[in-house]
Amino acid sequence: MGEHKFKTMGEQAGRRSWAEPWKIKMVEPLRMTTRAEREHAIREAGYNTFLLRSADVYIDLLTDSGTSAMSDRQWAGMMLGDEAYAGSVNFYHLEEAVQAFYGYKYLVPTHQGRGAEHLISQAGIKKGQYVPGNMYFTTTRLHQEMAGGIFTDVIIDEAHDPQSLHPFKGNIDLQKLEDLFRAKGPENVAYVSLAGTVNMAGGQPVSMENVKALRELCDRYGVKLYLDATRMVENAYFIQQREDGYGSTPVATILKEFCSYTDGAWMSGKKDHLVNIGGWLAVNDWNLFEELRNLVVVYEGLHTYGGLAGRDMEAMAIGIRESVSDDHIRARVGQVQYLGQLLTDWEIPIVQPVGGHAIFVDARRFYPHIPQDEFPAQMLAAQLYLDSGIRSMERGIVSAGRDPLTGEHRHPRLELTRLTIPRRVYTEAHMDVVAESINEVYKERKNTRGLKMIYEPHYLRFFQARFEPL
Ligand SMILES: *Cc1c(COP(=O)(O)O)cnc(C)c1O
Repeated sequence: MGEHKFKTMGEQAGRRSWAEPWKIKMVEPLRMTTRAEREHAIREAGYNTFLLRSADVYIDLLTDSGTSAMSDRQWAGMMLGDEAYAGSVNFYHLEEAVQAFYGYKYLVPTHQGRGAEHLISQAGIKKGQYVPGNMYFTTTRLHQEMAGGIFTDVIIDEAHDPQSLHPFKGNIDLQKLEDLFRAKGPENVAYVSLAGTVNMAGGQPVSMENVKALRELCDRYGVKLYLDATRMVENAYFIQQREDGYGSTPVATILKEFCSYTDGAWMSGKKDHLVNIGGWLAVNDWNLFEELRNLVVVYEGLHTYGGLAGRDMEAMAIGIRESVSDDHIRARVGQVQYLGQLLTDWEIPIVQPVGGHAIFVDARRFYPHIPQDEFPAQMLAAQLYLDSGIRSMERGIVSAGRDPLTGEHRHPRLELTRLTIPRRVYTEAHMDVVAESINEVYKERKNTRGLKMIYEPHYLRFFQARFEPL
């Protein structure tokens, strides 16, 4: 009798085991363009997909930031915006949601993630202090450097290898971190800057085992541990799927346990929280909170709105609850994995294992004949747009910027083109179109040359740089 295992109808029919846990109530028509229109548009944009007009884009995979579809509940919440200058009802809803699902004590809302990064960097870093982290993120590192910090990468080596199948490529190398504590002295380390599902490594998660060990190491040296929680829900899902002992633990429980090993977190609500704008900073230490609550008034707005409208805080509070549901996150990551599997089957070089929010095409292996100084990942993004109107972005030498000391290009090992999947926005038919277009560009790869940079802004150059084909 014991052989009867329950099977869903989908399994019995040999079909998929999940589908989107929502149905579509409103649609936004897409515009398709001709090749001639796209050639004109990309030239006008200086071969930088950030400078394209969205009206000229068919499937927009530039970023998953602020591009989510909100639910009917979130839209209903927008109507309940309490636009009082101080003490808005919606602030208290947001505070309750962060306390309930992330577990931190004190909340400071900010207009988006970098607003929170600015505050924690200003409050937590003294000039000349080291800030070790698991690979850099563009805005995070910039704010750390602008506060006088020296970012040091302490991620495990596997993270820099796009073909390594390590299940937790976001992990911190504890030996590298301890060596830094010893070499520089823990008093010269501002804090450890830990990010969930490391974006620049391809959306790679950190294990629970790693964060527990980190906590222990930081306690031993008296160093604080802060978390970039931007895509922590996706990280929690990977722990559920890959780490021993968590297979039947709800994602919400895993998220809260992970956060409990850290002293505070900053958040871009534009990612996990399913909203178009918003962010926050949350800490457990009252004294630090007082300082942050004071700083936010200078840069963002009063500490009960931080640059957000009441309605935006309400949408975020509701989005937090939706984001930690197992059904939601399984479908969200499932769609990314679906696209990744198509490309893997067609032997397109992408970062493996496929991460939680995006596909990262390995431009070094895609265009082995284009040297890194001729921006192969930037060119790949332009070629994809030319082929089909799909918008992606560069995550390689342009994003890495210049070394603040030497002024030279930083040459990251990873030269990637990112196709980021917005949450609850596109269907699997769109994913099929994307895979087919990448395949077309791949077939043409030998005829493609690199680019020359003709305009370079000083800060975060990837957003506004301009290029010309060689
Ligand atoms: C987007 C992002 C940020 C910055 O947040 P914004 O809301 O864009 O200002 C910080 N860290 C990570 C990992 C991100 O992906």
